[in-house]
Amino acid sequence: MSLSVWYDLFLFALLFALFVYIFFAVRVTNLHKVYFVFHFFMMLWPLCQFATHIVQDPEIQFVYVSLSFVACLMLASGWLLFTLFLAGDAEKLEFRSIAPLFLPAAIVSIGVIVNPFHLFTRPTRADYVDRAYGPLFWLMMAVLAYYFITSLVVLIRALRSTSASASLKNQIRLVLWGIFVLVAFAGADILLNVILADYLPIIPGLTSLGIFITALFFAFVITRYKVFDLVSIAHEDIINTIPHGILVLDEYNSVVEANRALGKFLDIREGDFFDIETFFASVRVTGDSRQFLEHYKCKDQDLFHIELFAERGSGLYFILQTSPIFDASGQPIGHILTFQDVSQERRLVQELNRQNDVLHERNRSLDRTRLELSQANRKLEEMALTDSLTQCYNRRYLTQRLAQDMSVNTNQGIPFSFVLFDIDFFKTVNDLHGHVVGDEVLYRTAEAVRQCVRSTDVLARYGGEEFIVYLPNTDREMARQLAEHIRSTVESNLIRVEHSTQAVSVTVSLGVLSIERFAPQPAFNNMDEYLLHLFSEVDKSLYQAKNNGRNRIELADADQIPFWRSAELG
Ligand code: GH3
Ligand code: MG
Ligand code: MG
Repeated sequence: MSLSVWYDLFLFALLFALFVYIFFAVRVTNLHKVYFVFHFFMMLWPLCQFATHIVQDPEIQFVYVSLSFVACLMLASGWLLFTLFLAGDAEKLEFRSIAPLFLPAAIVSIGVIVNPFHLFTRPTRADYVDRAYGPLFWLMMAVLAYYFITSLVVLIRALRSTSASASLKNQIRLVLWGIFVLVAFAGADILLNVILADYLPIIPGLTSLGIFITALFFAFVITRYKVFDLVSIAHEDIINTIPHGILVLDEYNSVVEANRALGKFLDIREGDFFDIETFFASVRVTGDSRQFLEHYKCKDQDLFHIELFAERGSGLYFILQTSPIFDASGQPIGHILTFQDVSQERRLVQELNRQNDVLHERNRSLDRTRLELSQANRKLEEMALTDSLTQCYNRRYLTQRLAQDMSVNTNQGIPFSFVLFDIDFFKTVNDLHGHVVGDEVLYRTAEAVRQCVRSTDVLARYGGEEFIVYLPNTDREMARQLAEHIRSTVESNLIRVEHSTQAVSVTVSLGVLSIERFAPQPAFNNMDEYLLHLFSEVDKSLYQAKNNGRNRIELADADQIPFWRSAELG
């Protein structure tokens, strides 16, 4: 038996060893599993080649020959599946669309096994070790070429795709190299041992060798570069699924990695140059950009961030964070920039501020309304307590005021007085000048009297053309003087009225009552009774003044007035 027979077995053993090595050297992912299928079919070729040579029976030899070519077909279709997985297209494919891809391999495999009319291969001598290939063999070649070209298209499309990451593209490049080695050896085998078989001596084991070198190459990149490694794939996945934009720059500010989310903030690709100052010029910076840039350039160890606004879409608020990358010796070798979209938060804050402003404005207008209301209320109160014609207090106010003062006056023995006065012959004024002038005279007289009284005194319209002045803390003499002052002021007050050349002048008669002494025992049941009594007393004096000739003062006899002491304060 020739050495080449053992050579195939030896390659098979090495391929098996590689299979075992990869299996134990890596954390097995789905991609690894597909690769193992691929590797298994690679192992079948040298095994079947070996088996073909060690048996004598041509029928059994044929079985092994067919099996090795079926393995080839499986290898090619397995390879296509592998590339689909690698390019990330397998997830998108359903069984219904995958099945037709493997149909050619299945049909040709049946043809190879059945070998109808020796269309696939026929023994040239008595065995299948030396054989001639028929049209079915070339059909098989075409099918193999179809798988190879389809896989190439899949891989090259993935290489050109913008969504594929840098590490994925690297994996694809490595896989392409591996498969080129296999195809080169298999091609050489076909060329030398099939096409040129009549002219050249048979060079055995070319495909087996190619398969072995390919497997060796794959074993190396799978274990050394962690191709198909779950963790790096997971990292890639994480980087591309997080919502923040990530930009990795090398020390020359050229883009090493840009994740998918970055597209929202920046149009940049791997290999492009990123100039932070140009970028800052294209956005609105909130915060100290100078400080940020200094930090960025001096490659400080710390993280640093700044908030920016870009006119992208409906406006984009984002936080840009920078952190330098250091190598093992502590040398800065690049930057990581992260972009975090905070538009939603900013818009919420803006909306909140706007609502706050609205609320403040409402509050202010509410305050204004409240102020207007309290002013109107005060006005109403004033109106309720003032006489509209003369602007003096009315009797209601006087009663309220006396109710407050009377207990204090009587309990503490504070003297007080009343001056009641009535305009003399007022009917005549009305009769002579009319009611309008009468009103004017009433008003002007009240005004004149108001100038005579003190700020603590209360001037109230008692009724018609009668007024009363309450003089707190005032004794008989002081009250008399004040009454006299009123009398003389009114007498000398000349009132000029419209449509009349003559000034109108009136006089008043006044009654004065002063309470200076207080009895220890109450003489009245309640204060109202007491006040009524006081009013009737002062009224009597006024009546007296009228009787005694008008324009004069009469003092009530205080001794005849029963005193009153407040029951509550008693
Ligand atoms: P006497 O000296 O006795 O007081 O004479 P008199 O004319 O003033 O008589 P009396 O006090 O009885 O008359 C009051 C008059 O005052 C009657 C009424 O027409 C008039 N009068 C009362 N209130 C008003 C008022 O608000 N406006 C006007 N124009 N006249 C009034
Ligand atoms: Mg009168
Ligand atoms: Mg009167």
